[in-house]
Amino acid sequence: MATTTDYSTVKDQKYYRNIGIIAHIDAGKTTTSERILFYTGKKHKLGEVHEGEATMDFMDQERERGITIQSAATTAFWDVDGQKYRINLIDTPGHVDFTAEVERSLRVLDGAVVVFDGKQGVEPQSSTVWLQAEKYNVPRICYVNKLDGIGADFFMSYDTIIDQLNDKAVPIQLPIGIESDFNGIIDLVTMTADFYKDEKGLQIEHGDIPADLKAKAEEWRGKLLEAVADADDNIAEKYLGGEDISVEELRAAIRKAVIANKLFPVIAGASLRNRGVQQMLNAICHYLPSPHDKIFVNHNDAGEVDATYVGEVPGTDPRAEGVITRKLSEEEPFAGLVFKIAVDPHVGTLAFFRVYSGKLTAGSYVYNSTVGTKERVGRILMMHADHREDIAEVKAGDIAAIVGLKGTQTGHTICDEGKQIILESIKFPEPVVSFAIEPKTKSDQDKLGTALAKLTSEDPTFRVKTDEETAQTIISGMGELHLDIKVDILKRTYGIEVNVGKPQVAYRETITAAGEHRELLKKQTGGAGQFADITFNLEPRERGAGYEFVNDIKGGAIPKEYIPAIDKGIVESMTAGPLGGFPVVDITAHITDGSYHDVDSNTDTFKMCAIYGFKEAMKKCKPVLLEPMMKVSVTVPEEFVGAVTGYLSSHRGIPKGLTQRGKMKEITAEAPLAEMFGYVSDLRNLTSGKAIPNMQFSHYAEVPGGIMKQVLGEE
Ligand code: GDP
Repeated sequence: MATTTDYSTVKDQKYYRNIGIIAHIDAGKTTTSERILFYTGKKHKLGEVHEGEATMDFMDQERERGITIQSAATTAFWDVDGQKYRINLIDTPGHVDFTAEVERSLRVLDGAVVVFDGKQGVEPQSSTVWLQAEKYNVPRICYVNKLDGIGADFFMSYDTIIDQLNDKAVPIQLPIGIESDFNGIIDLVTMTADFYKDEKGLQIEHGDIPADLKAKAEEWRGKLLEAVADADDNIAEKYLGGEDISVEELRAAIRKAVIANKLFPVIAGASLRNRGVQQMLNAICHYLPSPHDKIFVNHNDAGEVDATYVGEVPGTDPRAEGVITRKLSEEEPFAGLVFKIAVDPHVGTLAFFRVYSGKLTAGSYVYNSTVGTKERVGRILMMHADHREDIAEVKAGDIAAIVGLKGTQTGHTICDEGKQIILESIKFPEPVVSFAIEPKTKSDQDKLGTALAKLTSEDPTFRVKTDEETAQTIISGMGELHLDIKVDILKRTYGIEVNVGKPQVAYRETITAAGEHRELLKKQTGGAGQFADITFNLEPRERGAGYEFVNDIKGGAIPKEYIPAIDKGIVESMTAGPLGGFPVVDITAHITDGSYHDVDSNTDTFKMCAIYGFKEAMKKCKPVLLEPMMKVSVTVPEEFVGAVTGYLSSHRGIPKGLTQRGKMKEITAEAPLAEMFGYVSDLRNLTSGKAIPNMQFSHYAEVPGGIMKQVLGEE
C-alpha cells in the first residue's frame, strides 16, 4: 500500500496535493503529520511526540513545548487505487501567537486537514484557523482525532463542528468502537469497513460493515447523500429517484463540492494509536484539490475576496495597473511565491517557495519582482522528512526550497525577469511587544548579533533593534509567548543565555488636530552660515493610513532639490515623537511655503530645519499616545463567567460577546496589551485552571488621558 518513490514518477499536476494540517494546539497535528510520513514510507520508525521524536518538529524547544513553530514543507508519495499521488505537506504552527505563520502557509495550500480532539470537539483556536482557511478559500477535511481516548465522542465532536463552524460538514466515515475499543472505520462512500489487526496499523482487514452497525451506517449514508445532493443536481436527481449511485459518481460529486467549499467531509481516527491515517491519506487524494482544481482568490485592499480564478493565479504587473493572471502550466513563464525562509545549520538559508507557473532550474537566475532584484538560484532542494534531495528543476504546482537567495524574504514573488508578475503578497502585522535582552556572558555579544540576524530573517513578525540611549538590544514580536520562544531558541540552538527585561508595549504617537508651523534656521557663525525656512501643516490621517508627504511649494520658494531633504528630515523625526519618544504614525506633512539663501542653504540645512520644525509642530497638534488593543477570547465553564468578565473589565477590557461553545461559554473582549501581561496565569488562578485563553493583536487605539500621563511618567 504505502510506497516510496522518486520525483519523476508523479508528473501530472492532477496528482499533486499541496496540503496542510491545521488545528487547535494539542489536537494532534504533530502526531498526525508524523504518522503521515510514516505511512507514506519516508520514515521507518514511529516517533511519538511525548518521546520527542516527531520528524516535522526539527527543533528541540518545539518538541519540549509540544508545539510546532516552524513551517517546513515535506514531500511524500501515496498510492490510491493504483495511482501514485505526490503530497506536499506544509506544517503549520498550532499557537495563535503565530497566526502570521498560519496565514502564510494557508496562502500556498490547496487544501487542509483540520484536526479536532475527539474529546473536545471544536476549541477556540479551531475556529480561528477555520476562519483563516475561509479567507484563503482552502477546502477542508475535518479529522476527528483521539477517538481512542477516554470520553471521546465522534458524534459530539461532529455536532460542535456543525454548530460552530459550518453546517455543510458531513461524515464520510464512522468509527467502529470507541475509546480502547476503537478498532475500525466504516467508509460511507463504499459502504465497506476496515478492521485493524495490529497496533501499528499496518495490518488492515477489509470487509463488510459489522451487522450491529449496518442500520447506523445506512442512516449516516443517507445524511451524506442528502448533503451531496444539496450541492450536486445530478446526485439530487438520482437520490430522489431512488436510483443507485456508484462509488465513482459519489466520489466525483463529493470532490466537486469539497473543492467549491460547499461540503466538508468528516473522518475519524486516533493518530497516536495508528488508526485512520491511511484512510485520511486516501481522502486527501480523493477529495482535496490538485493545483489545477484549486479556486484561487484575489483580495481587495479591505481584505475581501473580489475575484476567483481556476487554472490560473492572479497577480499584478509591477510596471502596469490592474490584475494579470498566469496559467498554472509548465509552458508559462516562471512565477513562484516564497512562503518561508529558514536558516538550516548545514546548508544555509533556505527559501521555501511554491511554483505557480513555468519551471525553475538549479543554477539559473530569478527576478524578485517584489523588491526588483535579480538573484542566482544555487541548489534546489526537495525536503523529505528525514533527508533533502537535490533536484535539477521544479515545475508548476510544486513546492521546493532554494539555497542561496540573498535579499528574498517571506511573501516575495520570484519570477522570470522578462515576464514580471507580483503575486498577492502576505501581509504581516507590526510587532506589539518588546523585551530588552542582554547576554549573560559578555563574550556572547557577537554571537547574539549573528543569531538574532538569523532569527529575524526567518520570521517577519520578529524584529531586533538597539536602543540608542541605553545601547540595549530590544527584541519585538507578536506576544509574550512568541518572544519567550525566541529566547529559548537562543539558548538551545545557539547556546546563548540571555537576561530578559520587562515586557514593553509598542506605543505609537499621533496627532488629533491639524496645525501650521514655520521653522526658521538661521545661523551666522564667522565663516559659512546656515539658512533654511519652511512653513508646513501637519494633518491627522485615519488609523493605519501611515505617513504622507505633500509638497505644495509654488514658484521655487524652496528649490526642488531641497524638498526630498525635508521629507527625509520629517521621516527621521517621526522615529521618536515628542510625547515619549515613540514612533509617530498616521499623519500628513504638507509643505506650503518657505525661503532659502543663495549661499547658506543646502540639503543639510533643510533637513535639520525639518527635524527641529517637526517636533515643534507636533506639540501644536494635540498629540496623543496609541496603544495596541488585543482581541481576547476566554473559554470557561459557566460558573466562571462572572469572575473572568470582572477580571477583563478591571483590566480596561471592552466586552464584545458571550457565546455557547459546547458545554462551555466563550467570552470575547478587546483589551489593551499593556493590561494583559501575565493574563494566562491570572486566569488560570481565577478559574482553577479551567480557562482556555487566547489573545491576538487587533488594532491601535488612543490611550485614555489619565493612563497616558502614567505611561509618560507624569503622574
Ligand atoms: P499538536 O499540538 O496539535 O501538534 O498535538 P500533538 O501531536 O503534539 O499531540 C498532543 C498530545 O496529544 C500528545 O501528548 C499526543 O501524544 C496526544 N495525542 C495525539 N494524537 C492522539 C490520539 O490519537 N490519541 C490520544 N489518546 N492521544 C493523542
